[in-house]
Amino acid sequence: MSDNSKANRLVEKPVDVLRSIGPKRSSALNKIGIFTIEDLFYYFPRRYLDRSSLLPISKLRDGMEVTVVGKIVNMGVKRGRRNRFMAILSDDSGGLLTCIWFSQFAYWQKIFKIGEWLAVSGKIKRFGGYQMTHPEFDRLGEDAEGKQVNTGKIIPLYPSSDSLTKVNLDSRGFRRLLQELVYQYKSNLPEVIPEHIRKNQHLMNINDAIENIHFPKSFEHLQHAQRRFKFDELFFMELLVAFRKKKFSPETGGISFEHVGEKTEKLYNNLPFDLTNAQKRVLKEIRSDMKSSRPMNRLLQGDVGSGKTIVALVTMLIAVENGYQTALMAPTEILAEQHFLTIHSMLEELGVRVLLLVGAQAKRERSKILELIANGETDIVIGTHALIQEHVQFHNLGLVVIDEQHRFGVLQRAELRGKGVNPDVLVMTATPIPRTLSMTVYGDLDVSILNELPKGRKPIMTHWRKENRRSKVYQYIRDEIKKGAQAYIVFPLVEESEKLDLKAATDSYEKMKDGFFKDFKMGLLHGRMKSDEKEAVMKLFKSGELDILVSTTVIEVGVDVPNATIMVIEHAERFGLSQLHQLRGRVGRGIKQSICILITTENPSGESKKRMQTMTDTNDGFKIAEVDLELRGPGEFFGTKQHGLPEMKIANIVQDWKLLQAAREEAFELVNDDPQLLKAEEIGTRHYFIKNYRDKYDLAWVG
Ligand code: ADP
Ligand code: MG
Repeated sequence: MSDNSKANRLVEKPVDVLRSIGPKRSSALNKIGIFTIEDLFYYFPRRYLDRSSLLPISKLRDGMEVTVVGKIVNMGVKRGRRNRFMAILSDDSGGLLTCIWFSQFAYWQKIFKIGEWLAVSGKIKRFGGYQMTHPEFDRLGEDAEGKQVNTGKIIPLYPSSDSLTKVNLDSRGFRRLLQELVYQYKSNLPEVIPEHIRKNQHLMNINDAIENIHFPKSFEHLQHAQRRFKFDELFFMELLVAFRKKKFSPETGGISFEHVGEKTEKLYNNLPFDLTNAQKRVLKEIRSDMKSSRPMNRLLQGDVGSGKTIVALVTMLIAVENGYQTALMAPTEILAEQHFLTIHSMLEELGVRVLLLVGAQAKRERSKILELIANGETDIVIGTHALIQEHVQFHNLGLVVIDEQHRFGVLQRAELRGKGVNPDVLVMTATPIPRTLSMTVYGDLDVSILNELPKGRKPIMTHWRKENRRSKVYQYIRDEIKKGAQAYIVFPLVEESEKLDLKAATDSYEKMKDGFFKDFKMGLLHGRMKSDEKEAVMKLFKSGELDILVSTTVIEVGVDVPNATIMVIEHAERFGLSQLHQLRGRVGRGIKQSICILITTENPSGESKKRMQTMTDTNDGFKIAEVDLELRGPGEFFGTKQHGLPEMKIANIVQDWKLLQAAREEAFELVNDDPQLLKAEEIGTRHYFIKNYRDKYDLAWVG
């Protein structure tokens, strides 16, 4: 204990206690988030140079992509047809390699020195001798230091930047700094993983790991060190998840919805269809959650069209029949309005009072609505972000439903939850994720899965067409509309180029309306329209008065018009895979065969091709999610920030999923055994968690 606290004090000192760090270096380090000695220890190499596997310069051949280590034997600016800076490298093999830069001569002149060792990476070209143009390089130091590099060691290469290089903290600068640190302070880092877990998981202790991630004795040591720090990242993330779960799902203190009422029965009996087995199973799970006095905290995952809305509706009705209010929050006004129309029409005859609350309502209307919510004269409120504004107060909010939860952050979820006292929470998503991962990303939630589409649905047929076939595609639409179909034509709209995108969509709409489709009825829908305009257009399309709806991505989530069976997606190469799948889910919602046509440029990128191929190959949201995850990488895919999860520096939750599972088990067991982490061997863990993860933990508790 006393050892530990003394160690804490040392590593927590600011970096400028080191003799080699003055005010300039210190402020450059602060700018990249390095404040303490401990932070410096955690500044890991970006890669390693394996001296033993390097090619001697005499073995270089034209066209090779290599890393070479050599000593600068000559350098300078050479004037010619095109001026250049040249540094000539040599090594023990006696070969020569010329490195060439075509600009910034003064800079190269200043930073390089004859006699200095460089590691350079790039493509070898033969022009008489061997050359490398604008190589990526790393300075290894002058003779004594450089020679050491020659002895077959593994050399760490550190990330740097222009402003760090200015204070001599390029890769070499960091290497020297870390060398000083590791050998001076190494035994002083407090252990952060309890000993029994380290034993279980065969993990290196922290100081050996620090030493070997910076200056590995061998590649085996390096691997062990990396494994140890990957485990640490995953373990602390899971600890965060475990704590959240414990806090969100205390054993008691929630509402126990005992009563099953006749309204629920009536609704059931009046449905125009039978529920799927998956819907029944999920409702059972929800039912039992709601009965229990442990607050429900459940995620409902279901592919587009799997029928999540009806599940939400029954859930809300249970709350209402037990005398509580419920709120449903949706990410867009269009979706909120649509939910309102559906739910209102199904519940009106049962005497349930349903209201809509969105940002666009007039002041007078809004204050009336707020009053009805506050004094309990309404049972169900459906709305957008407007629901979480400060002045919205509920009489007794007992259940919160959040649709398309990936559109909301942890914070917004917490805010809506905070409008009640331990209300039950149901969040819904149509972005399914591979099962091995859902446990982690949604680790603080219980998960229900709707893995079955309603009976009689025909799988959507998807085709990919290049631009030069567009007129054929549009002719096909004409033919189908004459047979009674309705169609969506979707244009991309991204934030960065919103104005241009909007113009492109509007122009195309005008052109089609007065041209190719002039004998049909067309409507336009985009996010910049006023909400009553949007509502009017949606109503016309829904009732069949419009044949074609031209739209931006505002229809991505939730829009439900079963008679619309054709979807054309323009510039499909600009959409992400999950987004394409969501859009496609707007058709195929009735019993008629639906079709989705993706139109791209003649020559989309390799990644875009893979997306189109995946879309034409499968309708399965889980498979699509897997490919999407592969293409985009976990950080982007999960929007880890949105989930309030830490960014991974060295672990990858997809590639390291085995380690992730181990970390999860250990973390959950630890929190279960000792929720406060008070045992002696857990002091370091506790300290590290509070220091690095506390804010993320609190984030989930706002409201
Ligand atoms: P999503 O899961 O994408 O939100 P919805 O809840 O909007 O799906 O349902 C899609 C369509 O399927 C709606 O028109 C809905 O009325 C219908 N539906 C839902 N459940 C069933 C069922 N069991 N049988 C037939 N149709 C259903
Ligand atoms: Mg939905």
